[in-house]
Amino acid sequence: MTTTPSASRPQLIDGMGRTIVNLRISVTDRCNFRCTYCMPADNVEFMDRSNLLSFEEIQRVAQIVSRMGINRLRLTGGEPLMRKNLPVLIKMLNEVDGIDDIAMTTNAYFLKEHAQSLKDAGLKRLNVSLDALDPEKFRDVNRRDCLQSVLDGLDTARKVGFKSIKINAVAVRNFSETEIMGLIEMGRSEGFEIRFIEFMPLDSDKVWERDKVLFGHEIVEMIKENYELVPVDNSLEIGPASEYNFADGKGKIGIITAVSNPFCDHCNRIRMTADGKLRTCLFSTDETNLKDLIRTGATDETIIETLKQAVLVKEPGHKINLDDFERPDRAMHAIGG
Ligand code: SAM
Ligand code: SF4
Repeated sequence: MTTTPSASRPQLIDGMGRTIVNLRISVTDRCNFRCTYCMPADNVEFMDRSNLLSFEEIQRVAQIVSRMGINRLRLTGGEPLMRKNLPVLIKMLNEVDGIDDIAMTTNAYFLKEHAQSLKDAGLKRLNVSLDALDPEKFRDVNRRDCLQSVLDGLDTARKVGFKSIKINAVAVRNFSETEIMGLIEMGRSEGFEIRFIEFMPLDSDKVWERDKVLFGHEIVEMIKENYELVPVDNSLEIGPASEYNFADGKGKIGIITAVSNPFCDHCNRIRMTADGKLRTCLFSTDETNLKDLIRTGATDETIIETLKQAVLVKEPGHKINLDDFERPDRAMHAIGG
């Protein structure tokens, strides 16, 4: 897969020399789940719908960033499938010159219904979030009793032809330990790459503590009790996950050590929230208001210059492990994970 633009393409390079090729676009902050590590149980204040970028506005941003060297997009949220007519947006993004890859992260609840139209619209890759295979544990962490709908969504996605589906599981201490091997077995038998993501301090409830993170190296040790793992060379230089192949050749896993060993030095992504704010890091405390620029008639050149300036000062890395760490005001569902 292309991870960097070819030499003939323009390049968007930040102040640390990192080449930015990836834009994650949040299409909504709304969600039908209330995962404990992301959203509050109730009384969520959502963005006013008038502040959400329209499909045309999102497509304009994609056209602009593709001229700057970004060739990969990921749609996320909130739950991206809560946004009506999402396949229409995917088709519009697919028509943008220079965009080679469009992916989506979803909780899969609505996937059974939409997998075919997403595929037809040009969505290439899917990451599905699934933390537990035990129905009660699923309900505890997602605060919804609907494991079967997610499994049905996954099944349909595979049947309509999505290949290399990845499953994201947030790794929370005293919760995930019992789920790890079940997810691993499912991944091996169904052909999904399971990725464990260390729980990050982006939960609305603000209950995150370092002690609540199940660390990547502990997960690897647990899996190694049953399977021999072979590290994939330099995987952290290409993406956020340290990857391991099963020595018997049956599948692969990824461990995203966002807390214990972040991939910031190789970060190649920026994000845009559903209300059109550019964030150069998941943990940014500053944002660049693209929506206002777009809605006040800024030219492409002005937007390009603004983007370049924002990217130039992209954070060298997050500060979770430092004393001066400051939590962003937005929780994960309002940023776009
Ligand atoms: N609703 C979709 C979903 O859950 O797949 C997309 C948005 S969700 C915010 C994107 C990803 O962020 C999911 O894989 C979710 O598990 C992950 N996530 C959410 N909160 C997190 C946290 N506090 N720490 C680590 N990962 C988190
Ligand atoms: Fe919704 Fe995804 Fe957040 Fe869960 S992680 S509450 S599914 S946005």
